[in-house]
Amino acid sequence: MKIDLSEILSVKDKEKTLKCPLDMERFVTSVYDAKITDKSDVIIELKNTGKKKFKLKLETSFGLILPCDRCLSDVSIDMHIKVNRNLDLSVEPEDKDEFCYIDDDGKLDVEKLVHNEILINMPTKILCKEDCKGICNRCGTNLNLQSCDCKDTETVQQMSTLGDILNKLKEV
Ligand SMILES: [Zn+2]
Ligand SMILES: [Zn+2]
Repeated sequence: MKIDLSEILSVKDKEKTLKCPLDMERFVTSVYDAKITDKSDVIIELKNTGKKKFKLKLETSFGLILPCDRCLSDVSIDMHIKVNRNLDLSVEPEDKDEFCYIDDDGKLDVEKLVHNEILINMPTKILCKEDCKGICNRCGTNLNLQSCDCKDTETVQQMSTLGDILNKLKEV
C-alpha cells in the first residue's frame, strides 16, 4: 500500500488517520525468509507540522515464523511495530535509508516502512526455547526430541559457533 503524502504536506495542520491491510506475506532479506501470520490492520496517522514536515505514526502487529537458531524448528515471534516520528523532507537525512520508504513522487510505502521496522525490532537470538539443545551435527538428530549416541562434546561447541556466525550475519 502506498499513501500519497501531497495532501498532508500541502494543507496546513491537516490530519489524517488511515487503516489498511498489510499487503506483505513474507519478510525476505538476504538472511531471513519468514512467513507473516495473524496480521492486524495497519493504523497510520499523519499530521502536517510545517513546510515539508509531518508527524508519522504507525502501528500494527503480526507474527513472524522463523527457524530456531539451534534446531531450525519453526518459532513464532510476535511483532509489534510502533512508529512515532517527526519527518522533515526539506533536509537531506544523514542516513539515506531513513527516507527509503518515501518514494521520489512523495508516496509513503507502508510495506517498506514495516520491512525496515521488522529489521530494527528483530531479536538477536531466535530460540524455540531458552535451553534448546539444537541438532546433532553428526547424525542430524533433533536433541530436544531424542538423544543420540554421538556423545561428542565438540557438537555443542560447533553448534554454538554456527549460532554465533548466524547472529553475526544478522547484525550486518
Ligand atoms: Zn530450537
Ligand atoms: Zn548424533
